[in-house]
Amino acid sequence: MLSLQSPVNHLAGVGPSRERDLARLGIYTVGDLITYYPFRYDDRTVQAGQSLQHDSRVTVQAVIQTPPAVRQKGRRSVMTVQVRTTDGMPLAAVWFNQLFLRDRLRPGVAVSLTGKYDARRRSLTVSHYDFEPDTQSIHSNRLVPIYEVRGDLTPKVLRSLLLKALKQLELQIPEILPHRLLAKYKLLSKRDALWQIHLPQDRESLRQAKRRLVFEEFFLFQLKLQAFRHLHKTDQPGIAHSFTKEQWGEFLRALPFELTDGQKRAVRQILLDMRAPHPMNRLLQGDVGSGKTIIAFCAMYAAYLSGYQSAMMVPTEILAEQHYESASRLLGELGVRIGLLTGSIRETERKELLDKLANGELDAVIGTHALLEEGVEFANLSLVVTDEQHRFGVEQRAIFRQKGHHPDVLFMSATPIPRTLAMSLFGDLDVSVLDQMPAGRKPIQTYWVTPDKEQRVIRFLRKELAKGRQAYIVAPLIEESEKMEGVENAIDLYSRLCEPLAGFQVGLMHGKLPAREKEAVMRRFKANEIQVLVSTTVIEVGVNVPNATVMVIYNADRFGLAQLHQLRGRVGRGEHASTCILIAEPLTETGIERMQAMISTQNGFELAEKDLELRGPGEFFGIRQSGMPEFRLGDLVADANVMQAAREEAQQLIDSPDFWILPEYQELLAYLKNENVLKAPIQD
Ligand code: ADP
Ligand code: MG
Repeated sequence: MLSLQSPVNHLAGVGPSRERDLARLGIYTVGDLITYYPFRYDDRTVQAGQSLQHDSRVTVQAVIQTPPAVRQKGRRSVMTVQVRTTDGMPLAAVWFNQLFLRDRLRPGVAVSLTGKYDARRRSLTVSHYDFEPDTQSIHSNRLVPIYEVRGDLTPKVLRSLLLKALKQLELQIPEILPHRLLAKYKLLSKRDALWQIHLPQDRESLRQAKRRLVFEEFFLFQLKLQAFRHLHKTDQPGIAHSFTKEQWGEFLRALPFELTDGQKRAVRQILLDMRAPHPMNRLLQGDVGSGKTIIAFCAMYAAYLSGYQSAMMVPTEILAEQHYESASRLLGELGVRIGLLTGSIRETERKELLDKLANGELDAVIGTHALLEEGVEFANLSLVVTDEQHRFGVEQRAIFRQKGHHPDVLFMSATPIPRTLAMSLFGDLDVSVLDQMPAGRKPIQTYWVTPDKEQRVIRFLRKELAKGRQAYIVAPLIEESEKMEGVENAIDLYSRLCEPLAGFQVGLMHGKLPAREKEAVMRRFKANEIQVLVSTTVIEVGVNVPNATVMVIYNADRFGLAQLHQLRGRVGRGEHASTCILIAEPLTETGIERMQAMISTQNGFELAEKDLELRGPGEFFGIRQSGMPEFRLGDLVADANVMQAAREEAQQLIDSPDFWILPEYQELLAYLKNENVLKAPIQD
């Protein structure tokens, strides 16, 4: 009898060569085969001749009336056959470059034809055909599943194998989800879902099948996560920070401004976590400019008051330098000893800094990835903050653990990462949200102009500069590139703009400058010794110069929405009204929509949604490249609400004593054991 574990060659029709082809798709067992899902479906439902829509993809059943008329030019050919649909409509069926069919297209032969219908010519450009069609067939007159294939395999062969496997398995597909959940969420049984995902009755059953299988995928993922959490909870001691109310009150009075309500709430949540004896794992989300940095400093000060060290990790040297300066100004004044650690620090300085960190002569350190390197040791690290650092995940945290610490961790991000996605990136975490901007901010006016309006942009720029403000000008490239003609580069733009901006200091910034020079330019811009900074996107993240009020972006259509939003966020950080000018002549519909989205909203969450819509979920903030867990059917962004439900259910189940003893959860326990989450025998 066939089971999920049976090798695929137990299926009739699978010999050595087919077995090899299947193996190339990762299919070794019958279970692998039935979870090899279609990547799309072709609607080949036969339509009546009268109901065909112009310019749409249709399927008809027809009988050939005439021998093919062929026109040929070199290797190209057009072959036309007059047919009559079974309900009596005459049509011309057209094949391109398929001369090999010529002899089979004889009058009287019945065919099923799928293709684009042209109502004016009464013709069909054939993309798929079936001779002697059988309306009961799994290959036509229905939603037909299309699979990715290799070697000699065709989607047709896979369809037949799947039908065989599903029929023979019948009762050998065990249900893994608890019945309570099936009922609660009205989910199809596993057996029905597998049938419907491969051979859907209609679009609705396909939708239900997907919903069920995505739920299962996410639920099992969450079950693992929650089981880990449950089993490792006790052996992960954290640090319970403590300090007095008076000390904290004093600190709040030293701040340069009053915290917004959102900031106060976030600080409260963070301090609660820090006081608790288990490690904090919190994400602070707030749109660009909402004031996250000060919250990091609050947490770092709390660590200092409790007698511990803290570290802040950021993605760029510019940002490290900037945060180091502001931290020195605020926390340094209050007695906190702070160090700066980046990759470009001189060896002697670095050695001294590492010594001080190791023997406790420094209370806090701000730096780049250099903080993770070997040789960086702490005397008593209790807090790690990461700013705009999406790559900081589970593995990096493990590095700190190896260094002998279980620090509290605070992630800060302007990227509106859906909660579920954040969880898979950072583990099981809590979230604080800054949902308002500091008081007194004026909205940023955003304009989109074509490149021929450059003179007007420069005139506007001069007017703002004359008022004492500063500006950023951003280009996509550092230097001229032959491969990308017509794309601005920072070096040429800098030379070109110096003259029209005469009277003001113009600076140049890009990633190829040595770190020291970058720092120097940034420092001069901050001190208003430079009024205009021509730059690449190195200033994209985190840079804070409140007096800068104009952001001009050349070839704006070459940037993603998230990136444009980050760039725009460099202005509008102070009391003055700010402007963002997008210079672009987009060639695609999407490009135009992106520009319009930027004009119509300033809300990062809305833009992220738009981005998602324009680019498709998989590409959302480069999820594909970032080592995220991959799901076969589930989409972390589009199915975010399913993940949320799965998470709640998994947590509840794991926390309930029933789970570990009742027989109805056998399948799930076996799954956890199989995944090496549970090492002990299931029942004792
Ligand atoms: P982001 O969330 O983008 O990291 P920053 O922390 O850089 O934002 O803050 C942006 C600007 O707002 C900074 O100049 C900061 O000093 C200022 N700021 C932050 N919080 C407040 C507040 N409560 N009141 C006034 N200004 C604030
Ligand atoms: Mg920031």
